[in-house]
Amino acid sequence: MDSLSKRDIKYLKGVGEQRARLLAEELDIHTFRDLLYTFPHRYVDRSRCFMISELTPDMPMVQVKGHFVRFSEEGEGAKKRLTALFTDGRSMMEIVWFSRIKAISNAYRPGDEYVVFGKPAFFRNAYSMVHPEVDRFDPARPPHGLRGIYPLTEKLRNRQISTRSIGKMAENLFANDACRHIGETLPAEVVKELNLMPLHDALFNMHFPSSHAALAAARERMKFEELLYVELHILRYSRERGEKIQGLVFPRIGDAFGHFYSDVLPFPLTGAQKRVLKEIRADMKTGRQMNRLLQGDVGCGKTLVAFMSMLMAVDNDYQACLMAPTEILAFQHFENLKAWGDRIGVKAALLTGSTRTAARREIHAGLRDGSINILVGTHALIEDSVEFRSLGLAVIDEQHRFGVMQRAKMWKKSRIAPHVLIMTATPIPRTLAMTVYGDLDVSVIDELPPGRKPVDTLLRYEDQRQSVYSLVGQQLREGRQAYIVYPLIHENEKLSLKSLEEGYEKICDVFPHYRVCYVHGQMKPAEKDYQMELFVSGEARIMVATTVIEVGVNVPNASVMVIENAERFGLSQLHQLRGRVGRGADQSFCILMSHPNIGKDTRKRLNIMTETTDGFLISEADMKIRGPGDMEGTQQSGIAFNLRVADLARDGQIIQLAREVAGRMLDSNPGLLQVEARTRKDEEACRLPLSPQSVSVIRRELDFRFRHTFDWSRIS
Ligand code: ADP
Ligand code: MG
Repeated sequence: MDSLSKRDIKYLKGVGEQRARLLAEELDIHTFRDLLYTFPHRYVDRSRCFMISELTPDMPMVQVKGHFVRFSEEGEGAKKRLTALFTDGRSMMEIVWFSRIKAISNAYRPGDEYVVFGKPAFFRNAYSMVHPEVDRFDPARPPHGLRGIYPLTEKLRNRQISTRSIGKMAENLFANDACRHIGETLPAEVVKELNLMPLHDALFNMHFPSSHAALAAARERMKFEELLYVELHILRYSRERGEKIQGLVFPRIGDAFGHFYSDVLPFPLTGAQKRVLKEIRADMKTGRQMNRLLQGDVGCGKTLVAFMSMLMAVDNDYQACLMAPTEILAFQHFENLKAWGDRIGVKAALLTGSTRTAARREIHAGLRDGSINILVGTHALIEDSVEFRSLGLAVIDEQHRFGVMQRAKMWKKSRIAPHVLIMTATPIPRTLAMTVYGDLDVSVIDELPPGRKPVDTLLRYEDQRQSVYSLVGQQLREGRQAYIVYPLIHENEKLSLKSLEEGYEKICDVFPHYRVCYVHGQMKPAEKDYQMELFVSGEARIMVATTVIEVGVNVPNASVMVIENAERFGLSQLHQLRGRVGRGADQSFCILMSHPNIGKDTRKRLNIMTETTDGFLISEADMKIRGPGDMEGTQQSGIAFNLRVADLARDGQIIQLAREVAGRMLDSNPGLLQVEARTRKDEEACRLPLSPQSVSVIRRELDFRFRHTFDWSRIS
């Protein structure tokens, strides 16, 4: 395998300089190995041809055999297209091309027999295919079996590199002498123990599956390989780090904590809050730096846990900071923390982008001389000018909005790394969290404060709007408050802003006796704060808003939320939004208003919302529907790990297995060193002794796979 990663792809038959440059630019393929590991992203069954009368619009790619009847060019300039009628002998369908019009109309001849392969669409009462693959039908070589479809880019298509050309290159690659013996990338012991498909067969079947079963086995092996190295990479550093990275020791539980706990805390902590506080407390005594992810559904009381953890730092003469993703959220946190802090003599300050220069200077001084104990803010607090006398704990709220680099900057704010607590309401399934965050410990608050009733969630359509307003009206008459939320996909989308404004006017009309406030992301911070304040104080009873309220806003008196165009939101986002209600003791409602014509997946999504309020179930369902690539945060790590076959959401079992095997390898050989001189006892203790050959295989693969990755684990 080593030699294949040194062979330039341009020397492969059928490639050459020019194509090599394209492959490098577009698909990051530079070497023989790169091509071997560029797998089809899906496979189609080409063992059968369909009749046009059998097509349905929800079919994936299918093939139809027949001939072209006639070609016609339509439209002008950029709208120009080429349309062909294609018949299977009984019915007709349309085939459309928007580019390469001249070349195509010259290439295919009416009358000859072809197989077209594409996704059928139903449009204006007829079936059509856009840019299908077209092959001349060759009775001697009927298309058959599973065929891989390679990922392509627009540029490759324009340069005439099709999925078939890549398949052809892969064919040439396997025929090349260099690929006669592809060296294993997994230790022989592991291949044997887990009964995995050997590398050569697996690679071959990834490109040219001989059957569904062979493809499944090949994929499993490739996924395992990929995940094993990710886990080894993470574990290797986290173990090393666990030993080496010094952390601050907070031995004392002192006045601030005790005073708050016994005199100020207005309600008993939930069992889960207590458990998590104990976990945090234990971390802070070890002398190792804490890196803890605190997951808990919206409304479970993470802020309080964060505050009490901060008091642990304060009691040991250290400062703490809390970083929030938006100004509004920072402000809300600040209000809470300040109210609590004031009563026990702990001083909190707020620093955001809109803090005035004079106030800013004062805060800087207070941080340096230690008179400010707790700093709350947006990313303004990681600016270089912010210096602490002694930062002991950094809390990051909703961390999926922060990039890795921002976390790295926090880290530099004190000589010994401060403890880090990351809070998130995005309930990432545990296996995923382990993989994504690797060396973070995970605490979960899986209990809501007592007396909360699950939010009653209803799906409603336009023709039911009156009944929706009457439900809202009833809540308002009972003294409650309401949110009306509009989607703003892009904050600068004029159109959505217009629908928000119209919505606002409509609501003012429908509820003339109540004050309505109005918030969106394009407002000046001061105005936004003013409007928020109207709602928080209860003066405004209805808030019309975009998703800016998604995170963190806490108004327990709000008991009903109407989400307009709910079909345009993702599940996790709906869940976050819904979390704004149901914070008091009374029954709350969330009404999802949807367009009546929605697809299957969308309906499924909305129904999940009506069926459960469990954030973990919702997030799992969301990932199944959308794939983890769409989740903020995970995408970043998917890219960081360069996963090609494994799917963080779906391959939980393989992740677990890979993690276990990686753990055993490191148990038996912590540095993955080439030590032949291990004691008998060492040998007996480890359950997966690795041969010297296997150790070199692993080291080579690790070095190769993570040659460009910078050391992630050090900055989380
Ligand atoms: P989140 O986890 O979404 O950040 P918050 O920290 O905003 O949740 O808490 C939601 C609400 O629950 C707040 O009003 C908070 O004061 C309240 N709360 C937190 N812990 C408890 C508890 N143990 N008992 C009752 N209410 C609580
Ligand atoms: Mg919160």
